[in-house]
Amino acid sequence: MKIAIIGAGAMGCLFGAKLSAAPENEVHLIDVWKEHVDAINARGLLIEEDGAFAAYENVTAGVDASVCGHADLAVIFVKSTATKRAVQDNLGVFGPKTAALTLQNGLGNVERVREVIGGARVIAGTTAHGATMLGPGKARHAGRGRTVIGESDGSVTERIEAIRDTLNQAGIETDLSDNVLGLLWDKLLVNAGINALTGITRLRNGELLDHPELVDLMERAAREGAAVAKAKGIKLGFDDPVAHTKAVCRATAKNKASMLQDILNHRKTEIDAINGAIVREGALVGVETPINLTLTSIIKFLEK
Ligand code: NAD
Repeated sequence: MKIAIIGAGAMGCLFGAKLSAAPENEVHLIDVWKEHVDAINARGLLIEEDGAFAAYENVTAGVDASVCGHADLAVIFVKSTATKRAVQDNLGVFGPKTAALTLQNGLGNVERVREVIGGARVIAGTTAHGATMLGPGKARHAGRGRTVIGESDGSVTERIEAIRDTLNQAGIETDLSDNVLGLLWDKLLVNAGINALTGITRLRNGELLDHPELVDLMERAAREGAAVAKAKGIKLGFDDPVAHTKAVCRATAKNKASMLQDILNHRKTEIDAINGAIVREGALVGVETPINLTLTSIIKFLEK
């Protein structure tokens, strides 16, 4: 399969490296970070896994779509703040048969991609893998987990089976879902409960659980999100999203959430697509979301 990764940061490098290890794939990484692109082309992609580096040399990198041309699959892994711009800037990747896959966090990415390339080609999903950027050409595989993808109408198409098989063959364990919107909201509630609190407190995920006052805020943020999902008629995958959020916190205890990393690196965060999205969606269905609003406002202040 010819695959373009648009946004070769931590996650794009991880998925690009794994996919490139299968000889039947041709993988091209597209990123605006020139120094990183040059490093990949000079010495391959270096991925640290369990303390050791492996080099993936079967990839090419470029700052735009000219490195790739039309792909069979375009995996979008920019931050949600850059989705629309990145797709617009790399239209050369999207031929009439190219499927676009977003595994990004937060709400609104599917809609942003659709706005640019049209609806039918967009597939969404979530991944529980974690990755951290270490420097130009180098990333760390920070956590493992399931990846789940689905067509927006829940149908099982040939193309989605082919993409699932390609991911599985690359060692990225992937299942199909007929409820992709539910999947995105499951992940949204977890991110809403954890990420902003780490950005504000500068604690690692697991450390949040040591503080009852933070656990209370985490529970309330996730519960508000679940109430909005319910009012919108979205079927969540977990009976108890609060317990699920805490379980993820424990499972990723040592992680520095990406929102904390963004705050520490003085970058714009994905707050608008996470807690901010719960506030916006809540307003549309008449559900109050004061905790998510407060978390959003504090993160926006810290971004300044
Ligand atoms: P990242 O910041 O490491 O990488 C994003 C990359 O996109 C950067 O290298 C940046 O240079 C590039 N970029 C920005 N604008 C671009 C453009 N116009 N064209 C091409 N490239 C552009 O981010 P990440 O941590 O890999 O996260 C990507 C997405 O995956 C986010 O939505 C995040 O929430 C989600 N996610 C991250 C993790 C994780 O552990 N890091 C886990 C699951 C999901």
